Amino acid sequence: MSEPNKLGAQPPVKIGHYILGQTLGVGTFGKVKIGEHQLTKHKVAVKILNRQKIKSLDVVGKIRREIQNLKLFRHPHIIKLYQVISTPTDIFMIMEYVSGGELFDYIVKHGKLQEHEARRFFQQIISGVDYCHRHMIVHRDLKPENLLLDHNMHVKIADFGLSNMMMDGEFLRTSCGSPNYAAPEVISGKLYAGPEVDIWSCGVILYALLCGTLPFDDEHVPTLFRKIKSGIFPIPEYLNKSVVSLLCQMLQIDPMKRATIEDIKKHEWFQKDCPAYLFPSPVEQDSSVIDIDAVREVCDKFGVQEPEVHSALLSGDPHDQLAIAYHLIIDNKRIADEAAKAEIKDFYVAGSPPPVNMSPSPGDFGYSPMKLHPERITPLRPWPTNTNPAGEKGRGK
Ligand code: ADP
Ligand code: MG
Repeated sequence: MSEPNKLGAQPPVKIGHYILGQTLGVGTFGKVKIGEHQLTKHKVAVKILNRQKIKSLDVVGKIRREIQNLKLFRHPHIIKLYQVISTPTDIFMIMEYVSGGELFDYIVKHGKLQEHEARRFFQQIISGVDYCHRHMIVHRDLKPENLLLDHNMHVKIADFGLSNMMMDGEFLRTSCGSPNYAAPEVISGKLYAGPEVDIWSCGVILYALLCGTLPFDDEHVPTLFRKIKSGIFPIPEYLNKSVVSLLCQMLQIDPMKRATIEDIKKHEWFQKDCPAYLFPSPVEQDSSVIDIDAVREVCDKFGVQEPEVHSALLSGDPHDQLAIAYHLIIDNKRIADEAAKAEIKDFYVAGSPPPVNMSPSPGDFGYSPMKLHPERITPLRPWPTNTNPAGEKGRGK
């Protein structure tokens, strides 16, 4: 794990204000190391992408806008991307760090999970996936290796957006790490892959949680592909009928007939003990009214002029990166407003104990206003949106 260090004391490697430490994992595109803030000791995970390895990931134009938007993503079950630092040789992604390891290792260690435990994980995953789909990001590479656990055994989805950025490059041809989770239309090489591909992968993950094995598996890749395309998988006796119906709807080979997130949310198996914070009611946005402050913030972050944002909003193209940014900013504002209200509310009910069970972890500030505890709000929120946690280097171009 640790690099040979014959001289003993070498100066530590620093990225922004973070001192890089041990390697947490090795991913498809490079290493992930732990970073510790030199003063506050705040821990982050730093993903190091070597530019040579990922020629297609060039932080220019459209891709830069996508990364900018990923930084606006805020969800209790998605690894937060704090900052991206670009150097001529590498790209460093500074992210929220979680200490509980991969869900994959948890399944390997514990075998199949109890139904209620699988449901709890699955609800959190669907909540995160729903959030991303609402903001026009498809993961495309969901698998238990990309699902991390925090110290509270909450799931955190890693790698959202990355595979999107590499879609048009070498990615699809070279990254065939684990096709077990890939939807039939993906392995058949369909170029377009929408939210349905994530639903399929979530179906495979749900199966793995409940059974401790994969629905489609074979050492021989062509056979594995044949199995995936057939959509036929073993159904163990012990599975609850209700969850079997959900699995069959998710592992439906025809993407048009496959369950949608809405279908999953309505499913009786899913609804059992589903915490309300996972699916907050969407903001009612009057699209005829444009929020000037939000427009200004977009201009600020993207270095564009107001008319450009206005025309992006008026075009009605949901995939326009400026429009996505605008909606994320509005969403985040609502979260902050509700949290502020909750803070006042908590002030009046001071003395009553904070709810314990489903409260999100501190970094998840604001997502579940009713469950926030006042002292968690300000001090533990790592950085406001427009502050750069990693120092000067990452700013701007
Ligand atoms: P890739 O998708 O390129 O394969 P990942 O982002 O999945 O890389 O990272 C590889 C491994 O590094 C993960 O499986 C995990 O073990 C570890 N890791 C990644 N991000 C974090 C994080 N935010 N906190 C803790 N460990 C992480
Ligand atoms: Mg990964």
